[in-house]
Amino acid sequence: MAREKSQSFAARVKEELVRQPVGKSCCQLSEIGAMTRTSGHLHFRSGGKMTVTYRIENTGTARRLFTILKTRLGVSPQLHYTQTTQLGGRRTWVLTLNEEDSRTLLTALHMIEADEEGRMVVKHTVPRHPLTRPCCRRAFLRAAFLGAGTMSNPEKSYHLEWKAEDDRLAETIQRLLEKSGMPRNTYERKGKTVIYLKQAEQISDMLALMGAGGSVLKMESIRVKRQTRLRATRAANCDEHNSDRMVDAALKQAAACRDISLKMGLFNLPPALQAMARARMENPDLSLEELGAGMEPPISKSAVNHRLRRLMEIAQNLEE
Ligand SMILES: [Zn+2]
Repeated sequence: MAREKSQSFAARVKEELVRQPVGKSCCQLSEIGAMTRTSGHLHFRSGGKMTVTYRIENTGTARRLFTILKTRLGVSPQLHYTQTTQLGGRRTWVLTLNEEDSRTLLTALHMIEADEEGRMVVKHTVPRHPLTRPCCRRAFLRAAFLGAGTMSNPEKSYHLEWKAEDDRLAETIQRLLEKSGMPRNTYERKGKTVIYLKQAEQISDMLALMGAGGSVLKMESIRVKRQTRLRATRAANCDEHNSDRMVDAALKQAAACRDISLKMGLFNLPPALQAMARARMENPDLSLEELGAGMEPPISKSAVNHRLRRLMEIAQNLEE
């Protein structure tokens, strides 16, 4: 229970996402591609050798990548963790692929090719793989979120983002968002492009798209609570505002009646207006309904309103 409370909403979403089935072969490769682009590092060793490592903070994400790499490519990364020495430093999982496994991975992602003499050469520094199928687009966005995404607690604000390590990743994410009918908002943070969603509905849709159905429900219930609170606050402000206006109006009416009394005498008014003017001067704090109810005989709110307006006009004419 305590854990549930201290866990951030983003962590909750990620925990749900890493439990999603690894999916079809095409989607597995998309996910590997996204993880490689957000968390992968290519190391060139002597003799033209290359190895790949991944650095991942989230334990579930590291485990998921390990599983998918094994399932899809038959490679077995070594998994260990390092702890940064900084204060508050986090534990980071490191997945290391040996040279042979790295070659398998880079070939699958179309990043390297064998030249005429059979040597492996780098063709692309970023993975190349088609992302045309909706299933693969979802898998890519999900994995990119696991590797480089976060979101705010919807109880406080609505914000979901991916931080792109490079411009090409930023472009890919924007393209996939566009194809999913989402807006492509970006801003720069420390030289990196951040792609973000700001509206509750879009964030909810994105969580659903990535497969975090439980988090969608949680978010929707938070949204309903927030909207209810907002409506209650608005209603309260509105009443306050109205009552301020009502008091202002009542004071002006009472002042107008005093003016009439001083300048022309209430007795010169028709009896209905005389009674009304006296009632208002004696009861500047009453609402129109209350004033009407206290008249002899009682009159309606609109009749009170009508008579007070006539009194205001008379006072106005006396001024001119
Ligand atoms: Zn797919």
